[in-house]
Amino acid sequence: MCGEIDFSIMLVERFAAYHRQSYGGCKPGIGDVLIGAAASMADYNGVRRAAHIREKLGEMLHLSETMHACGLACSYEGWKTMAGNYQSNTLLANICKHNVTRFTYELCRLAEDIAGGLLVTLPSEQDFRHPVIGKYIEKYLRGVADVTTENRIRMLTLIHAMTKGQISPSYQTESMHGAGSPQAQKIMIERESDMDAKQRFARSLAGIDEREDVTA
Ligand SMILES: Cc1cc2nc3c(=O)[nH]c(=O)nc-3n(C[C@H](O)[C@H](O)[C@H](O)COP(=O)(O)OP(=O)(O)OC[C@H]3O[C@@H](n4cnc5c(N)ncnc54)[C@H](O)[C@@H]3O)c2cc1C
Repeated sequence: MCGEIDFSIMLVERFAAYHRQSYGGCKPGIGDVLIGAAASMADYNGVRRAAHIREKLGEMLHLSETMHACGLACSYEGWKTMAGNYQSNTLLANICKHNVTRFTYELCRLAEDIAGGLLVTLPSEQDFRHPVIGKYIEKYLRGVADVTTENRIRMLTLIHAMTKGQISPSYQTESMHGAGSPQAQKIMIERESDMDAKQRFARSLAGIDEREDVTA
């Protein structure tokens, strides 16, 4: 760069904010599919109305919508630069991505809880199609009567792909490290937050500093 470093910090911070903002759209979108798959498995297992299952599905919705809310918040709090492009709010974009580093893992954990251990003990498709073994799998791996064993296996396979298989690196490891590992967001969150102001508020309310006169 021939010593032209004046704007290098700003460049990295703004690029990272864009990247971290985008996770508030992408990851809740994948979350919607995982929540739908977990709810379907609860249906297929015949436990959809059980109190703890509804509570866990509610928790999954909460986690996914919180990521979505962060994506919207950092966009709504964005601003127009002199160049005419829009820049997301840096603090909220980092909060968004930092929640993503945690919430996607909890979403996977809850989906696995609801799906059941069959997620990893499932026989192969070859066994399912086997002329001798196939009929036993059809009989003994059936959940509720009105859903075929094949469809139960299909839904389990989707959850497996998203939490442990070929799609899982993009949902878990990318959520952790993509757009920077968690500590990168913590550094930006500290940098973008006015800790002095927060301490002033606390000292004022605790009666250590003189109260600001707001009536004047
Ligand atoms: C699936 C996936 C998709 C990706 N897509 C993109 C993309 O589209 N565009 C893009 O630009 N990048 C992308 N990335 C790269 C991403 O930005 C990096 O993975 C991320 O910056 C972390 O770097 P790293 O993986 O080399 O881990 P490392 O930097 O090796 O981090 C590993 C650990 O070491 C810690 N650590 C690292 N350096 C220090 C230090 N100096 N002091 C203390 N602790 C430290 C970290 O906090 C972390 O806990 C993607 C990554 C993944 C996994």
